[in-house]
Amino acid sequence: MESYSWTQDYQRTWETITKKTEEEEKEVEPTEPHFRPLLRRLVLILDYSKSATKKDFKPNRHKLMSQTAEEFYSNFYSHNPLSNLKMIIAKSGKAFHIPDVSQLQLSADGEFSLQNSLEMALYLLESTGEHWSSEILIIQSSLNTCDPGNIWETIEKAQKRLAKITVISLCPEVFAMKEATLRTGGKFILIDKAEKLKEEWENIAYTGNPASYESLVPMAFPYWIATPTPCACHLKINQGYICPICKCKVCTLPIQCPVCNFILVSTPHLNKAALSLTPLPPFNPVLTLKCTSCEKSSVSQCPKCSTIYCSDCEEFVRTSLGKCLGCSF
Ligand SMILES: [Zn+2]
Ligand SMILES: [Zn+2]
Ligand SMILES: [Zn+2]
Ligand SMILES: [Zn+2]
Repeated sequence: MESYSWTQDYQRTWETITKKTEEEEKEVEPTEPHFRPLLRRLVLILDYSKSATKKDFKPNRHKLMSQTAEEFYSNFYSHNPLSNLKMIIAKSGKAFHIPDVSQLQLSADGEFSLQNSLEMALYLLESTGEHWSSEILIIQSSLNTCDPGNIWETIEKAQKRLAKITVISLCPEVFAMKEATLRTGGKFILIDKAEKLKEEWENIAYTGNPASYESLVPMAFPYWIATPTPCACHLKINQGYICPICKCKVCTLPIQCPVCNFILVSTPHLNKAALSLTPLPPFNPVLTLKCTSCEKSSVSQCPKCSTIYCSDCEEFVRTSLGKCLGCSF
């Protein structure tokens, strides 16, 4: 007869657990090639419900989200020059569209509503044309969602509009959120460390090569007009740009012309996009010499013509010129 467990010796089960090393964890991750669209429409939803005041991430979830979002916002356009980023703060059961980073400091309060946030995001993505991606990124902190109607109808709406929902979660999995990502082809990412939040967030925004387009994308360069008149994109009276094809007025760039569907961009936008498509190869590190252009202490050297760069000059060459000063490499 088998003896009862309380009559047996201690079984030290925790000693038999083997933790995977970092290298082993990396090995099992799938390494599918990652592409990001060239023309992106991204709506960022920050969950500022009362759960964001929890202090499991330092200093707390709210501070971590607002700081990372601010950094993300300032870097987004340099990596995605032909794109558009909008931000929503979800708190007190409602969703608020915030125009800039200054309002990231709003306090965390009340409940999170997935439905209200998604409805607002879909409204902001409404003007998306055929060449643009529709992406919704949610930074989730709440374990529940407080919705006025049927959340599955809103998820279906997102699915029909081809809006891809990705969730980065600071708390355990919530069924509706996971389902929303699965049904729209997005990802559900659980975070356990503050550094990982930044890493995953940046992965979504910056990594990967811009995806190629199957057909040519019609683009036009609009001209500036200072007289305030109503814009065709928002029906608001302000200054703006005139489409050279159909003479319709829009107030922001880049945008798809609401009348003739040409993509309206400025030349710096296009230049930056071209640079992001063909980035300069890495320079060799060199520390003992002086920068050829400004004589500050050097950090790198062109492998082809040996022109020496300081960090500022290298940054300028990479982000604005796209060519080495010495050899047009
Ligand atoms: Zn407008
Ligand atoms: Zn037009
Ligand atoms: Zn320099
Ligand atoms: Zn060179």
